[in-house]
Amino acid sequence: MANFINVILPIPLERHFTYSISGEEALILRQGMRVAVPFGKSKIYTGLISKVHQTPPEVYEAKEIHQVLDDTPIVTQIQLRHWQWIADYYMCTLGEVVRSALPGAFLLESETLVLRNMEVTVDELELGDNEFLVFEALQHQSVLKVHEVAAIVDRKNVMPILHRLLEKNIIKLKEEVYEQYKPKLVRYVRLGNEFTSDLALEKLLETLKRAPKQSQVVLSLFQLQGNTMKPISIADLEKFSGSSSAIIKALVDKGILEEYFIRKDRVNYDNTEENLETKDLNEYQEKALEDISQAFEDKKVTLLKGVTSSGKTEVYVKLIDACIAKNKQVLYLLPEIALTTQLISRLQEYFGENIAVYHSKYTVQERVEAWNNVLHDKQKAQIVIGARSALFLPFQNLGLVIVDEEHESSFKQFDPAPRYHARDAAIVLGKFHDADVLLGSATPSIESYYNVQLGKYGYTEINRRFGNVLMPDMELVDIKEAQRKRKMKGHFSERLLEEVTQCLDTGEQIILFQNRRGYAPILECLTCGHTPQCPNCDVSLTYHQYRKQIRCHYCGHHAALPESCQACGSPDLDTKGFGTEQIEEEVRKLFPEAKVGRMDLDTTRGKHAYEKIITAFERQEMDILIGTQMLTKGLDFRHVSLVGVMNADALLNFPDYRAHERSFQLLTQVSGRAGRTKKRGKVIIQSYNPYHQILKQVTTSDYEAMFNEQLYEREQYRYPPTNRIIKITFKHKNFNILNEAADWFCGALKNNFGGTVLGPEYPPVARIRNQYLKHLLVKIGKKESLATTKNNIRRIEKSFNAISMYRSVRVIYNVDHI
Ligand code: ADP
Ligand code: ZN
Ligand code: ZN
Repeated sequence: MANFINVILPIPLERHFTYSISGEEALILRQGMRVAVPFGKSKIYTGLISKVHQTPPEVYEAKEIHQVLDDTPIVTQIQLRHWQWIADYYMCTLGEVVRSALPGAFLLESETLVLRNMEVTVDELELGDNEFLVFEALQHQSVLKVHEVAAIVDRKNVMPILHRLLEKNIIKLKEEVYEQYKPKLVRYVRLGNEFTSDLALEKLLETLKRAPKQSQVVLSLFQLQGNTMKPISIADLEKFSGSSSAIIKALVDKGILEEYFIRKDRVNYDNTEENLETKDLNEYQEKALEDISQAFEDKKVTLLKGVTSSGKTEVYVKLIDACIAKNKQVLYLLPEIALTTQLISRLQEYFGENIAVYHSKYTVQERVEAWNNVLHDKQKAQIVIGARSALFLPFQNLGLVIVDEEHESSFKQFDPAPRYHARDAAIVLGKFHDADVLLGSATPSIESYYNVQLGKYGYTEINRRFGNVLMPDMELVDIKEAQRKRKMKGHFSERLLEEVTQCLDTGEQIILFQNRRGYAPILECLTCGHTPQCPNCDVSLTYHQYRKQIRCHYCGHHAALPESCQACGSPDLDTKGFGTEQIEEEVRKLFPEAKVGRMDLDTTRGKHAYEKIITAFERQEMDILIGTQMLTKGLDFRHVSLVGVMNADALLNFPDYRAHERSFQLLTQVSGRAGRTKKRGKVIIQSYNPYHQILKQVTTSDYEAMFNEQLYEREQYRYPPTNRIIKITFKHKNFNILNEAADWFCGALKNNFGGTVLGPEYPPVARIRNQYLKHLLVKIGKKESLATTKNNIRRIEKSFNAISMYRSVRVIYNVDHI
């Protein structure tokens, strides 16, 4: 009887592919194991077995597999079910989910891979434009394929760029077809076997008298060793004895020393101390913990709404403690790992080695290691902390999922597929494992709070800050009025200046929030009004003073700052709007004595950049920290007594149905950074429109009012959570084809579908990287079926793709787009 396997390939094709296997292979192969298989004319892919069976494919002859890559499954059944759910719900293929879920090292292909060389620090100013783009891309993705690099720099022949980067030692190439995962080994030395007796040792030292350097090494080894049996690494010995690796090698060659290796896990903590006791909860935390435990009894998902600094983390800690005591695994999801080193070290103090951090900035090897630890239910990965991709790990017995800062939009993946929401996918994962799920936030998303109202989720709240610290005192400043009275200095109102001055005098720290990086968003000619535009995108270039450049924030295009207007030649150029860089400059002028720092995307490239800024601020090496929304994310600074919001209007006016909800969240969160210890904090919010409803709700901390008003509007205009939406994006290089294609699709949808279809419409930036964009928005009411709608859309897509002119148009689905 012939034997076959179905294989999921990490590509955006709908089907599973059938390959033939031998009878022996049929005995060992199982679902969840990987195989290397041929595909197309010359490609080799790593695929995941979904099924072993005896039914030959009907329309093609099954090829044989190349190689079996695993002895045992590396993916569990629950994972495959969960991934299938993600593919169905978010309208992508299982292959796309697999590609995103497995660490790159598990999916190697016969194509060259480019990686960043983590050993070197890079001076970005030395990079050419294209080199910088590749380097930047490699900070977001640890591995790029050559054709992806080509897409990023938008040219076919990228080898010269890659060669230059290789020369500069910035990247590494991997050309091996299958690089097996190699655990990192550490080299150790001990005395050769024949010298362990006292007599032999004496003789040895005698003979080494003529080789003082070698003798020194042997004596150092004894000293290091003391009376212990602990292994001595070659590196330690080298350092301690002040000798060289050549001398040690000579001793090894002579057989005096013996070399051996111990496997070392790559991600480890230098924390060797005993774990700290967890803190005793105060009465409010205690109450919340009780409510949560009770809610878990019948509702698996529970929302904890606790004001900033109410001590939510300590409540999580108790839940984690209880969960690991039952020998179950914990998943702790955070919106962004890089911003939460404070939290991670806090948890490490409690749980030490039990914590594994899963992070896209870690190397592929590090991720493989975490994967295997979770798969084998190792104690050292019993608690996994990670950003959204951590929910793809092979949990064996998940007991608790915590989604911290559940309102954060960065839980939603925008690109590439799967465009999933990690909070929602985590809730489903929890269901599959029968695990408890806790959502936590000071400013819950409208969705989650709505689900509480509907009785779907359990609920509890903490309304006081820990230690009875008062919520900050918030003040709105009308900058229109201030400008009219000429009372502004740059972007600072009189009130803000007063408060800053007072803080500096008393040695307290200040945070200034401006949600825009760069110096000023745009450069404008005072004579003709021309503004430099990106050649690839329909957007103005942003002025960056530090680099003396104008840059595109969408595609990375940049050019030197022009000295005169490119349209009319006039030298009178001015900046319009303002970003973090300009605030920094103003602060330095207004407060020359103050020590100033800035935190935004531009100052935080690189692996440890965030930590450095955060630590410096924590140690009070800076008085004023200026930053973008990065500053809002769960940072716990002790000495900040003033938070200034430079301008709230850009947030409020953002063209998006969530703009008001987001503004409330962002402003509340950034305000929450003020006065976290004894003294009451102060928040100043500057706005042209201080009577805006949302600003009132922020200053009075009236979440309920915000929620009710937003919910009403969402109902009126048929947006989530009372309706569901699917955004369909069309993308093409040719403007006319794009328009026709979008119109065709829209027409077909309107004919077939009772719900509401809006569009097609151009987004605010209608061309990115030379691709034109158009959106359709499908709104689905509570009574309509989401599944049926998706099937209809899929059917229409099939007919769409049958039209040859449209086939090259990319169609992208974004379900529950936010
Ligand atoms: P949140 O996450 O709700 O903003 P945190 O968990 O960061 O608040 O707590 C705020 C501060 O209060 C932290 O510095 C934390 O160490 C402290 N804290 C919270 N709960 C306790 C407790 N039970 N005992 C001692 N300190 C606590
Ligand atoms: Zn001009
Ligand atoms: Zn651009």
